[in-house]
Amino acid sequence: MARLRAEANASPAALGSQAGARGGFSVSGMGRGGVLKALRTALSLLVLALCTGDALLLPSASGAPASSRSKSTKARSWISDAHLSPRNRQRPYRKSTPYIILHTTEGGSKGSIAKLSKNGECNYVVDTDGDVYRIIERGRTAYHAGLSMWNGRTGLDSCSIGIEIVGYHNRDLTAAQYASLKRLLAELKAIYGIRDDRILTHSMVAFGNPNHWQKHRHRGRKRCAMLLALPSVRARMGLYAKPAFDPDVRAGRLKDADPELSTVLYRQGTPVPRPGTPAKTAAKTAAAPAKPAPAAPSTAATAAADAAAAVRAVSSATVIGPGRSAWDIARDAYNAPTTIYTFPNGTRKTGKEITQWKSIPPGTRVEIGIPPSENAPEGLLTIGEDGSAQDLAGDAMLASTTYYFPKKGPYQSGAELSLAAVDALPVGTRMLIGYKVVGPVTPRKPVFSLCGPRWNRSDTYYWDKTGHLVAGDEIGERSIPEGAFVFIKAD
Ligand SMILES: [Zn+2]
Repeated sequence: MARLRAEANASPAALGSQAGARGGFSVSGMGRGGVLKALRTALSLLVLALCTGDALLLPSASGAPASSRSKSTKARSWISDAHLSPRNRQRPYRKSTPYIILHTTEGGSKGSIAKLSKNGECNYVVDTDGDVYRIIERGRTAYHAGLSMWNGRTGLDSCSIGIEIVGYHNRDLTAAQYASLKRLLAELKAIYGIRDDRILTHSMVAFGNPNHWQKHRHRGRKRCAMLLALPSVRARMGLYAKPAFDPDVRAGRLKDADPELSTVLYRQGTPVPRPGTPAKTAAKTAAAPAKPAPAAPSTAATAAADAAAAVRAVSSATVIGPGRSAWDIARDAYNAPTTIYTFPNGTRKTGKEITQWKSIPPGTRVEIGIPPSENAPEGLLTIGEDGSAQDLAGDAMLASTTYYFPKKGPYQSGAELSLAAVDALPVGTRMLIGYKVVGPVTPRKPVFSLCGPRWNRSDTYYWDKTGHLVAGDEIGERSIPEGAFVFIKAD
């Protein structure tokens, strides 16, 4: 009753905006004549829609949760729902979408698409034949970027759409893929108002925490989709601007751990002017001596030549040797179960089985399988620096294999916490994802009996009651404090 009176007293303008906001008619405040008029309008709209054959095919104009509407509203979409992720409905809606991030799957269609769908690791995937599949609805969060940073902002899953392209970071895409990407990007740019220079590659935004080879937080964790940074290649996707430099390396937030990659991302390639604009300095980024703008417009041939040159500019060696480590070759997949090391004597081991990174003999060949899930970033993570708990752990936020280490007090597993409790964890709380705990270490139960040869791996961590966490490769057998708990990667 109170509500009725309030609406009746409201000014017509206020009523209009309320009705508009709800997307329906507010009957309660209208007189009888008003109701009839509204019904007549609705009826004539319906008749009009039926006549034009557009019944119920309303475009979802806002980027907001339009996707949750009934199926009939997207019956004619050119994008297939054949591989919609079973995790789609659990995923939260993003608050804003200033970025699109492009990926290459580094594997063939079948395996890649199945894995992306199962884990909900992108919003769309573009197959080699140009078919586009929706994996996670565009307004919802997909876990595709992992440990990521751009312009100081971390956890880019919460502010970007992720598009996976079936293919490899060092191979050109198919013509059908370029055509589909152009159409898909045009639609998304229009819906969200995204600028061309905010359509980034995963290699631009991925960063790594310190590891066995890198002392600092670094760029170069991935080379994912690197060729899509080249101006002539971008032109094939209808993109005519790109970032001129890496803002996080420039600001000193990250070290550049792969200068070959940054050359491809920021300096190489033929500048391509937007069609219909007078040839101008298309890219301030080009380091090449300024010659007159190229006469030839963007063609597939130019893009292919630029891509080939870029591939030659980065090392694609797969054999470990002087100055070329497992990390140089496999990047963040160096310790993945899908990465295979073949030693000169013929022995084969997966990245997960290797413990002594220093003693891999030169001549060892490295093969990288389908990359590990971005959903489970490696190593010790810090809430606030690396992103929120949700950015980092995704669906595993409340899992028994996710551990939280506040600066003070005991550690807890995700299974012991509520969603609200995880949200309330202070900035600086550290996390391990995909782990199990053994211990405590006692004179009767030395560490080797608890976890075998894994005791000194760089991805094994020791926690003592003072809240101190130390990696296995930073600790000596004698310096392990009694009572320490040992965190090792879960199988
Ligand atoms: Zn990627």
